[in-house]
Amino acid sequence: MSELTALTLAEARDGLKKKSFSAAELTAAHLAAIEQARALNAYVLETPEQAADMAKASDARLAKGEGGPLEGLPIAIKDMFCTQDVRSTACSHILGEFTPPYESTVSGNLWRDGAVMLGKTNCDEFAMGSSNETSYFGPVISPWRRRGSNTPLTPGGSSGGAATAVAANLCLAATGTDTGGSIRQPAAFTGTVGIKPTYGRCSRWGIIAFASSLDQAGPFARTVRDAAILLRSMAGPDAKDTTCVDMPVPDYEVAVGKSVKGLRIGIPKEYRVDGMPAEIDELWQKGQEWLKAAGAELVEVSLPHTKLALPAYYIVAPAEASSNLARYDGVRYGLRVEGRDITGMYEATRAAGFGKEVRRRVMIGTYVLSAGYYDAYYLRAQKVRTLIKRDFEQAFASGIHAMLTPATPSAAFGLGEKGGDPVEMYLNDVFTVTVNMAGLPGISVPAGLDAQGLPLGLQLIGRPFDEETLFSLGEVIEQAAGRFTPDRWW
Ligand code: GLN
Repeated sequence: MSELTALTLAEARDGLKKKSFSAAELTAAHLAAIEQARALNAYVLETPEQAADMAKASDARLAKGEGGPLEGLPIAIKDMFCTQDVRSTACSHILGEFTPPYESTVSGNLWRDGAVMLGKTNCDEFAMGSSNETSYFGPVISPWRRRGSNTPLTPGGSSGGAATAVAANLCLAATGTDTGGSIRQPAAFTGTVGIKPTYGRCSRWGIIAFASSLDQAGPFARTVRDAAILLRSMAGPDAKDTTCVDMPVPDYEVAVGKSVKGLRIGIPKEYRVDGMPAEIDELWQKGQEWLKAAGAELVEVSLPHTKLALPAYYIVAPAEASSNLARYDGVRYGLRVEGRDITGMYEATRAAGFGKEVRRRVMIGTYVLSAGYYDAYYLRAQKVRTLIKRDFEQAFASGIHAMLTPATPSAAFGLGEKGGDPVEMYLNDVFTVTVNMAGLPGISVPAGLDAQGLPLGLQLIGRPFDEETLFSLGEVIEQAAGRFTPDRWW
């Protein structure tokens, strides 16, 4: 039954409709695969009983010819999403065994459409990281290995568990969150497709907050079409999140396969960064040729404030994080460590509950927001953010439909390889943070392998709320590059 786990989401959907197999069989195959892949540490919580119950209910609906667009399809949920009666921790010790009495809007939308929950996936603590190494539950091991080597590699982060679960066939697709690249970077590292939609496209309600003005949910999948199918269900208006737009959700799947003839694609010259490996540049060139061959027109564009995006992001994101994480005080959620008095209890709880990277962000954030430094850091970073957004607006106003860039400055690195200097880790986000700062949609599509046999991705950046063009262009890259799957060793 293992071949059931290798199906795409679209194939599984069509197979269920044709009654080639049941949702119960499809789910059982995935649960068995998850059990055999525990060495990868992709899931921090498996929910086999819930999965079996949901699959049974799906089969009953399918038998009557009913069911939603995701009926019976097994999906994994990043541990940043609150799931009702199922432990939700953001992979932080401070949330302990926190079990929310409510469901996040996005995961709720998936269950409304018939999806089956397999479990919660591992991620960096509060989604702060690029390698999944800050998780309280330990790192995720990538299903990919360098040719001829057993060195354990990172699947990227923060959604490392989601990316791994999709790449290793431990679910048909998964949800992720992206604040500075946490969907697109792990997608690029694992040969999967990941899209961060426009800010406001998916509700943030019930997603554990990292940096509220940047956080956005999105799908991981093995094909562009599958990502389009999942995003359609995830997205949509929600009165519970005032930043979530009240706009109908297009049928994104229709955009897959649509001609890209005549689209003007911007190539931002500032993304040619110093020290970028030649193979990344070559991949970028290839991507340009593929789009050109499909009838798109390539135009060099300038986004002059690009180099300020990373430093500005590492002020804005920690500032918002320090404020969002103030709620973890030992009173309401998860962990409590007793102290001499209530202040002592707060301090002891936070010291024991937060990991090193989270503490670093809280301290940076508190510092940049403090009286005397606010104007010099936070306010200035916000102004830079406006300039970054304006760069994109000007390029789009000149008739550019989307932009093509590399997704990451390198392929996946080894676990522990970037442990020392936090800035070294932050540099991973150079190509992705601009998109969050500007609130735009960005998709990462697998585009090739590096010299060591590891996947590399290309990023397409779109106009606000024009995810459809990204799916059309993404499919052109997918058709040209092919799909990439790791050899099973686990
Ligand atoms: N790597 C970035 C950070 O650590 C982005 C993380 C994310 O998108 N959640 O902040």
